[in-house]
Amino acid sequence: MSAPDLADLHMHSCHSDGVLTPAALMELVAARGVTLAALTDHDTTAGLDDAATAAATHGVRFLRGVEVSAGWNGQSIHVIGLGVPPALAASHPFETHLAGIRARRVARLREIGERLQRKARIPGVTLADEVCAASAVPTRMHLARALVAAGHARDIGAAFDDFLSRRAPGHVPESWDDLATTLAVLREAGITAVLAHPHRYKLSSGALRRLLGEFRDGGGAAIEVCIGGMARHDLDRLATLARHFGFAASTGSDFHDPATPWNLPGRFDKLPAGLETVAARF
Ligand code: AMP
Ligand code: MN
Ligand code: MN
Ligand code: MN
Repeated sequence: MSAPDLADLHMHSCHSDGVLTPAALMELVAARGVTLAALTDHDTTAGLDDAATAAATHGVRFLRGVEVSAGWNGQSIHVIGLGVPPALAASHPFETHLAGIRARRVARLREIGERLQRKARIPGVTLADEVCAASAVPTRMHLARALVAAGHARDIGAAFDDFLSRRAPGHVPESWDDLATTLAVLREAGITAVLAHPHRYKLSSGALRRLLGEFRDGGGAAIEVCIGGMARHDLDRLATLARHFGFAASTGSDFHDPATPWNLPGRFDKLPAGLETVAARF
């Protein structure tokens, strides 16, 4: 019998807010012993072809993925899509859905920059211009890095706390499509929907169960259970919820940057026994 897969189904490249190219990411993935990998950039499929080519040269099995921004009950949630079909035309409804999100990201980043300029008296407009010129998927992570580089924050965490989080001067509410719409778009494209990091949403246990119920009703197949850097009690809670709702379980690092060692590719706990892995469906 061959060894079981080490499946990392949640990673970012420089096509969204990661720092490595897809090729460099797949090299690192192979070096770390990951045998099944998905690139899941925020709201873009742009890195998938390069990642697939690089994965093949390293003997890593590759799944085409994406992490889609969505809204639920007034907050942002993330839905991982696995099995994105290759060579979708820009006019395909799934690609136009992502393009719409990217356009709203640009508008949001610029508004964040204006607020920082007005309320925190730092050159937010210029910083936002620079971020939007450099990335087709501008995120608050890019702006956090720019704030650190320009000396306005000591690290990424402080940049979020002082400037970008919900209670900070740069907060701008998100305007993503709702969960039901997002799931319908994924379903129609034949893409498997996985709810990303359910433990990170600041929800009561009742609200989290409502979210999981709506996710299942909309055709969601799986939830992430083992994620880089998570606490054991969160893992146990998510495993219980996956069993209760009949979800398959996914594993992933949410890797962005080699400088954050707690979510290197392949670095997360093993799935508890008795859960179906979403990887087994591919
Ligand atoms: P956005 O999608 O533009 O709201 O940016 C969110 C991205 O910023 C996430 O995908 C994370 O990579 C990162 N992020 C969000 N909150 C934090 C935080 N408190 N500390 C560090 N990174 C964060
Ligand atoms: Mn991110
Ligand atoms: Mn996420
Ligand atoms: Mn992610």
